[in-house]
Amino acid sequence: MRKILVTGGAGFIGSHLCEALLQRGDEVSVLDDLSTGRIENIAHLQKNKAFHFTQGSILEMPLLEPLVKQADVVFHLAAVVGVQKIIEVPVDTIEINVLGSHNVLNLAAKYRKLCLVASTSEVYGKSTKHPFTEDDDAVYGPTTKSRWSYACSKAIDEFLALAYHSAQGLPVVIVRLFNTTGPRQTGRYGMVLPRFVDQALRGDPITVFGSGRQSRCFADVSDVVRALMLLVEHPAAVGQVFNVGNPEEISIGELAKLVKKLTGSDSKIRRIPYDEAYQPGFEDMHRRLPNIEKISRLVGFKPKIKLHQIVTRIIASKRQALEETAELPVTAGLQPHSLRAGAAE
Ligand code: UDP
Repeated sequence: MRKILVTGGAGFIGSHLCEALLQRGDEVSVLDDLSTGRIENIAHLQKNKAFHFTQGSILEMPLLEPLVKQADVVFHLAAVVGVQKIIEVPVDTIEINVLGSHNVLNLAAKYRKLCLVASTSEVYGKSTKHPFTEDDDAVYGPTTKSRWSYACSKAIDEFLALAYHSAQGLPVVIVRLFNTTGPRQTGRYGMVLPRFVDQALRGDPITVFGSGRQSRCFADVSDVVRALMLLVEHPAAVGQVFNVGNPEEISIGELAKLVKKLTGSDSKIRRIPYDEAYQPGFEDMHRRLPNIEKISRLVGFKPKIKLHQIVTRIIASKRQALEETAELPVTAGLQPHSLRAGAAE
């Protein structure tokens, strides 16, 4: 049994990771400030004696230090994430992502603990060289556009992690997560797929921002968690950066149609200009396509879950949650598509 610390373990990806680690027989501690993480994400783990939860921030050294000291491996997932959230809390984004990660890396180096740092495909910025490959150049917009502060904050985390590795021998693995989705993800902070499914199930308009021609590649969280666990087990991953994602690509406009079809919803698909959806002058990434050759070569990673199945699973989990909470009229969008009249776009 190994002792694992997961920062941000009550978040969407973190909670799935904790589940998989516990299943494997590890002892898991979580530090999470519950800013975007939710206690409900880990409620089912709380009865497991090998699971420990501490509410707090990675900015709080007295909380963080004993947790890192006791761990054998640290998965550092805590961060401010989600485009909507980053625009809402620009100072926290930089402070938590940079200073918090500095704290984690500094302690991991002090106690010589293997540390996996969760970074993001956002670090490639608006580069037009596709697919994105680990050594590609990053291309950012001006500092007056706050969305790029997220990319820069995570790029600093990567620089810092690699610097601790080369200067102090910290065993570190960096993963650039592409769009990750699955059960328990909330659409509250901008994540498109749970938002579209919520909208379709409510019968609300499905909101496509911009032209809808921008594309993304969605990986199921179970594939992503497996990739992270494989990487920390492989000694040759240390000191390296890896893309983690699923190269199956879809435009956001097509995704809206797919969600509508698979939910059988009557929702209209409504286009909203970026300026209105986010803030004036918002710059989106047109494509975000991962090259996953590096991770495939090293640990044999290949995503197992295809987009159609990913969307179906999210719909099933959202419907179940709706039925459990009875928070919304569960009739919306629940009939098979063929039974509904005038399903207009
Ligand atoms: N998006 C959209 N409608 C929404 C939320 C997001 O059309 O209600 C778009 C967004 O503008 C982007 C894509 O979906 O082009 C993916 O957005 P998300 O925030 O999920 O991820 P990211 O932009 O970080 O890849």
